[in-house]
This record gives sequence, structure tokens and C-alpha cells, in this order.
Amino acid sequence: MSFTLAVVGRPNVGKSTLFNRLVGKKLALVDDQPGVTRDLREGEARLGDLRFTVIDTAGLEDATDNSLEGRMRRLTERAVDMADICLFMIDARAGVTPIDEMFAEILRKRSAHVILAANKGEGSAADSGVIEAYGLGLGEPIRLSAEHGEGLNDLYSQLLPLSEEFEKRARDDAPETDVDLDDTDEEGDEFDDLPPQPTAEKPLQIAVVGRPNAGKSTLINKILGEDRLLTGPEAGITRDAIALRLDWQGTPMRIFDTAGMRKKAKVQEKLEKLSVSDGLRAVKFAEVVVVLLDAAIPFEQQDLRIADLAAREGRAVVVAVNKWDVEDEKQEKLRALKEAFERLLPQLRGAPLITVSAKTGRGLDRLHAAVLKAYDVWNRRVPTATLNRWLTGMLEQHPPPAPQGKRIKLRYMTQAKTRPPGFVVMCSHPDKVPEAYSRYLINGLRQDFDMPGTPIRLTMRGQN
Ligand code: GDP
Ligand code: GDP
Repeated sequence: MSFTLAVVGRPNVGKSTLFNRLVGKKLALVDDQPGVTRDLREGEARLGDLRFTVIDTAGLEDATDNSLEGRMRRLTERAVDMADICLFMIDARAGVTPIDEMFAEILRKRSAHVILAANKGEGSAADSGVIEAYGLGLGEPIRLSAEHGEGLNDLYSQLLPLSEEFEKRARDDAPETDVDLDDTDEEGDEFDDLPPQPTAEKPLQIAVVGRPNAGKSTLINKILGEDRLLTGPEAGITRDAIALRLDWQGTPMRIFDTAGMRKKAKVQEKLEKLSVSDGLRAVKFAEVVVVLLDAAIPFEQQDLRIADLAAREGRAVVVAVNKWDVEDEKQEKLRALKEAFERLLPQLRGAPLITVSAKTGRGLDRLHAAVLKAYDVWNRRVPTATLNRWLTGMLEQHPPPAPQGKRIKLRYMTQAKTRPPGFVVMCSHPDKVPEAYSRYLINGLRQDFDMPGTPIRLTMRGQN
């Protein structure tokens, strides 16, 4: 479990310098192609033994004066909503400016955890700025020099307790058991671990992915019920992925929009890579991934790749076939789609396939239900006693093979994790269990415990 830190503040205070220092390499696209660094960028940061995601609200410099404030506000709000912690940076040499005050106000209202940093803090020229920073009402500022790497210890000391808090919260939310051979579940424990429900604090994270023009933006806008994604003529505002909070039919959700993916055709080589990684980021961010297909051209290479990626990353997947409003032979088409789905994506066996029209809104109820169900399945925990009764039945029905006349013994089984469900089978010769036998067990688990679609991990382990 890690957390996300957003670095926010007005242009030129040193956000990117800190970002680069935390990420440790020049991951950013630093050239001045318009629109490239305009939005949010994200990197994997390390600070001491902490590992976390850092978001930088880079590149507002090129905004014209009258749009700067609004843009900054929107971008900052977005970053704040995506993050667990905000690092608010001011320039200690310049002191506190009115724009800094505006930021402070946004953060006080919107962010649960703010760390205040007075950057460019090396040398005595920064002294008065550091003192002014107290006046922002956001607690004691860290005196930082992003450029010289000073003050990072103080940053670490502020992040550490928060990180521990998030970790504890994650543990409490999703109790993970280690494989424990003494774990003797009692009868009736079927009702113990009810799957967690999405809450305002922990909304269900969903991403809509798919090829350009599949209808992702249309769908997200329909779900949001307003035209919030394309917020006007400012190019690049949706280039990078953004996260939006919403209540979809009463379910608190965060939806990850990768609108940027569709603008791919217009940009060059380097950006191309960035856009592809958008899809990856979306998948990593999400608990449930909605793979949106265009009914006219379903299951293209790109669709298959992203669906496979989602499965490999262990995400719950819902396939939605869009533009269903323009299909005539609906019955026949649906049959063909289901057949293609099973053939092309066997790793997602049983995942729901929902036909929708993002344009008219038809099918969105069913999509909502499928997303919730997928989330539920993804979180499901099967009690150990139940599992082992089940395993006994499976072994009787179809005993494992006996290579060289020696039967492989599957002794005991437990669910080691959720999100997605992962099972461990203790057995005599883990390396000799054929793939086909594991598949038999996985398919059995899917069917008997009603876990369609979700990736199921099954590990064979020898006893030691
Ligand atoms: P951003 O617009 O907030 O991302 O700011 P940048 O990271 O691009 O930095 C703006 C300028 O401030 C650059 O010229 C940096 O070299 C400089 N800068 C960043 N951190 C420090 C620092 O700790 N001390 C000093 N003196 N300059 C810094
Ligand atoms: P994105 O690139 O995946 O975000 O796709 P867009 O949302 O921009 O949609 C691409 C095109 O498909 C637009 O012209 C939309 O109007 C159209 N479109 C999206 N959803 C539907 C739908 O359900 N039915 C029909 N007929 N057209 C749709």
C-alpha cells in the first residue's frame, strides 16, 4: 500500500525540480512543445524507505494572464482530488503572494492532508519568506531546497506518519491473511468477511479504456450527466488522464479519464509513448476497468491488449460494447460478440459483456450493476473451511495426475488475498501440477463461488 502525493503551487516555485528529485530521473517531457507539460504528470517516487506516487501540476507558465488563475485553480483541484496528501509549495525568496493565498484557500477546503513547503530555502534570503509562510494557516512550513536537496529529511518525517496511517487504514479495510496452516475456520464463518462497500472516503475506482473514438468521453460525460470533461477551448486540458469524483447512481466513485488517448493521431513519436502509458496508468489506478468497444469494430488488437493488460494487472474487468443504438441485427450481433469474447479473451472468462449506448444512455443501468458486481467479486473472500470442503469434492471428482506412478497430493487450500482473489494450495510436488489441473481448479472456483470475470490467482506451494 502506498499513497499519492500531489505537489501544487504557483509556477516557478520549484515543483518540477522537487518532482524530478523524488522520481530520480528526468521522466518528464521537458521540451516546450505546447500542451505537453501543460497538465498533470505522475511518477513513482522514493524518499528514504517510502515509495509513493507523486503528481506534479507542471507547465502553467505558458498560460496567458487572464486565464492563468482559473486554469491553476482547476488543475490544482484535480490534483488534490487525485491525491492522498498535498505538498503545497511556495517560493521562500519571493515570500507569500496573493496567488499563494488562493492556493492555501483551495487546500484548506479540499485536502485532508496538507504539507507546506517553503522552497528555495537555502541561504538567508529565504528567512523572511519562511516566517511569512506560517501566516498561511497551514501549519509549520518545511524549509526546503529542491535544487540542493535540503530539507528532504523534514519532508520524510512529515510523510512517514501519514504513510503509516494510510497503510493501517488499508489493512483495516481489506484484511489480508497470510497462509496459515493452523487457521481453523469455524462453521458459519461464511458471513464473516463481507466485501467492503465503496464509501465517500474510499470510492470505487474505475477507469474507462478503449481505442480512440470508442466513445469513452461520451460515456463518461453521460455518467457525469453534464459536459464536464471538455471544459472549453483550452487545448490539452484533457490530454493527460484525470480523475473525477462522482456518485454514480448513489455509488461513490472515482473515474479515471484517459481522454488523452484519443488525441494520439495528432502528436509525434514521443508523445505517442506517453499516451500509451496513459492506458497503463488508468489500469493501475482502477479497481474496475471498463473496456469500451465500438460495436462496429469490436475486439481490435488494441482492445485485446488493454483487456489482457487489465487481467494481468489483476483488475476486475467489465466489457462494454458501445454504439449499440446503431446496430440492427442485435440478437445475431450479440451472439457473435460473445463467441469472439470467449475465443479471444479466455483469460477473462465469465466477465460481463454489456451493450450500451453512451449517446442515448441505454444500458447504463446494467453497466452500473455490472461494475458493482465485478467490484464485489474482486473483493470476495471464501472462508478456509468452505474452500477445503470444496477442494475435497474437486479432488474426488477429478483426481490429480500421477506422474511416474506417484500421485500428487493437494493437501490444503486457503485464500491468501483479495483484490483480486488469490489462492494457495499446499501440495506435495508443486512443480509437477499440470497447467490444465490448475485451470480446472480456477474454473471450478469461478463457478462454484460465483466469481466470474475477475482474474483468479492460484499458487501451488510445497510444504516446508
Ligand atoms: P515549477 O514551475 O514550480 O515546476 O518550478 P521549477 O521546478 O521549474 O523551478 C523554477 C525555477 O526555480 C528553476 O529555475 C529552478 O532551477 C529554480 N529552483 C527550484 N528549486 C530551487 C531551490 O531550491 N533553490 C533555488 N535557488 N532555485 C530553485
Ligand atoms: P473517445 O475517443 O473514446 O473519447 O470517443 P468520443 O466520446 O469522443 O466519441 C467518438 C465518436 O463516437 C463521437 O462522434 C461520438 O458522438 C460518437 N459516439 C459515442 N458514443 C456513441 C453511441 O453510443 N452511439 C453513437 N451512435 N455514437 C456514439
